[in-house]
Amino acid sequence: MADLFETIVSLSKRRGFIFQSSEIYGGLAAAYDYGPLGVELKRKVSDRWWKAMVYGHDNIEGVDASIFMHPMVWKASGHVDAFNDPMIDDRASKKRYRADRLIEGHIARLEKKGKDDAAARVHAALVEALNADEAPKALYDLIVAEEIRSPDSGAFDWTAVRQFNLMFETQIGALADGENTIYLRPETAQGIFVNFHNVRETGRLQVPFGIAQIGKAFRNEIVARQFIFRMREFEQMEMQYFVKPGEQMEAYEAWSQKRLDWHVANGIRPSKLRWHQHEKLAHYADAAQDIQFEFPFGWNEIEGIHSRTDFDLSAHQEYAGKKMEYFDPQTQERYIPYVVETSAGLDRTILMLLCHAYREEEVGGDKRTVLKFNPELAPYTVAIFPLVKKEGMPEKAHAIEADLSGQFNVYYDEKGAVGRRYRRQDEIGTPFCITVDGQTMEDDTVTIRDRDTMAQDRIPAENIQHYIADRIEQWTPEA
Ligand code: ATP
Repeated sequence: MADLFETIVSLSKRRGFIFQSSEIYGGLAAAYDYGPLGVELKRKVSDRWWKAMVYGHDNIEGVDASIFMHPMVWKASGHVDAFNDPMIDDRASKKRYRADRLIEGHIARLEKKGKDDAAARVHAALVEALNADEAPKALYDLIVAEEIRSPDSGAFDWTAVRQFNLMFETQIGALADGENTIYLRPETAQGIFVNFHNVRETGRLQVPFGIAQIGKAFRNEIVARQFIFRMREFEQMEMQYFVKPGEQMEAYEAWSQKRLDWHVANGIRPSKLRWHQHEKLAHYADAAQDIQFEFPFGWNEIEGIHSRTDFDLSAHQEYAGKKMEYFDPQTQERYIPYVVETSAGLDRTILMLLCHAYREEEVGGDKRTVLKFNPELAPYTVAIFPLVKKEGMPEKAHAIEADLSGQFNVYYDEKGAVGRRYRRQDEIGTPFCITVDGQTMEDDTVTIRDRDTMAQDRIPAENIQHYIADRIEQWTPEA
């Protein structure tokens, strides 16, 4: 499984999906750049989310708030005081770990060995420790009691557990004193809360309504590994849905289902997705669960659905001294709305799609690598090849390319044997390959090859657009 993940990471780099940031300087840990194919995939996924959330609901509007915000925002939201992770150091290797993740790793190992009772006991102890007043000490005691060793050195020589704040600080303006300290936002949600009235008034919205946003967030993660799964700079797709107090659980259930359905509609097999209830509710939440995907390195979160109560709006009302209430014209009531949030990681969604799509298949004694993306998400929708570089075929292929490029992202390739050109496209997930051959020059038909079945149809060149549009519409993921 680890090998499979390495293979996917290396394909991502080799074919231009994702590169290490600042690679020529040796790279920067936990920062990545999207290459030509990655950026296409990312834009398609974020567009699809935007369409589903904003265009798909007449009571949801979008915003694009700034990353820098007034420092009081993060005081009010609780992030200055409570956005911490428990860290612990291995004295032998000097490596740093998240204490709760070490214990989770221990639980996973017990489960793997079939020691389900022990795993359940440690899990219960972990939940208790996370919720303890002295959580760092409780986590440390559990690590010691379970004799959990360092995953890298095997040593049992731990420092105490300390809380570590995940927000990045920087200075705004020319003066570098405490007064000018601001934070890079650790979540996009606060840009929505502070704009609650602006969007509600300008959009003439009535509760229940939602505000959606896609944007960067920054967290100084203690351990950042597993490629783009855990980065220090990443992108979130978040929606805050404002409801009347008391109606939050209904909205929470409905949004949980809608968000799961969205991933399935993207092509993810339902058996690869599951719900995970939070062990410790965040300071603002009255219910929270995550959608997890089965990555090659195990089940992990891709999206959280959180019922955030009126915590954020009430806190901003208190700290900013501005009323955050809503007046309900129907019932004549005044209240601070409750909030249900859907918070998906764009990068984690990309990683999930890459892992899910990756296949190695035997074809006539050869191995082919193929990314079986939903055709709507594939970086290129169509590749077009002249069979040979003469007899007017390149010109004809370019003419078809020009025709299609208004509607689809098209890749033109005239180099090498056609079989190899097919393989190159399979490896990046291009669902359709069109070949212009001798017969095209006679009767204006082309062959169009399907990535998944490898079957070829011959169709009139003038029907290509309809053919592809129909096939995309009819596409269903493999069972
Ligand atoms: P985790 O427990 O994995 O640290 P979280 O519960 O802190 O995640 P949320 O605060 O709920 O995450 O953020 C919502 C979403 O943002 C997550 O489901 C994830 O997809 C994404 N996300 C959070 N942290 C990172 C990160 N460091 N790198 C990439 N994506 C992230």
